[in-house]
Amino acid sequence: MVEGLKILRQIVYSDAFNEFRGEEIAPGSSVRSDKAIEDYIRQTCGTAWHPVGTCKMGIDQMAVVDPQLKVRGIEGLRVVDASIMPTMITGNTNASAIMIGEKAADLIKVGTKLR
Ligand SMILES: Cc1cc2nc3c(=O)[nH]c(=O)nc-3n(C[C@H](O)[C@H](O)[C@H](O)COP(=O)(O)OP(=O)(O)OC[C@H]3O[C@@H](n4cnc5c(N)ncnc54)[C@H](O)[C@@H]3O)c2cc1C
Repeated sequence: MVEGLKILRQIVYSDAFNEFRGEEIAPGSSVRSDKAIEDYIRQTCGTAWHPVGTCKMGIDQMAVVDPQLKVRGIEGLRVVDASIMPTMITGNTNASAIMIGEKAADLIKVGTKLR
């Protein structure tokens, strides 16, 4: 990321950007050394990605939950969130996470009726 920021500066400080470039707002032109750039990145960077799949649903050995979202090998525990997605989906994750919740509510209601 340090290298990336330096490449970004090379591009923005090229002649092609002369008519568009204003003063550098962040991290600011005084932040020059690799260490200073790294410090800035460590203080400010974050993720806007959609983490999923750390407790994947499935029937294979790597699956954490079964198709009823029950944790394999543990009684009385379900996982109900985006972590059960077996792979990264192509769309946004929020609606899918809500549907996982709706589905789990139905599974629990059906399970309760069966008991
Ligand atoms: C910046 C950003 C922008 C996004 N924009 C969109 C968008 O535009 N459209 C879209 O569809 N999706 C978007 N998403 C993704 C979407 O928000 C998530 O995929 C979704 O919220 C995942 O739901 P979840 O229930 O799996 O996890 P979360 O919503 O993260 O819920 C996990 C919950 O567990 C709680 N928790 C964590 N640890 C513990 C613990 N030990 N004990 C008890 N509770 C705990 C947390 O407090 C949290 O309430 C965005 C995500 C980010 C980060």
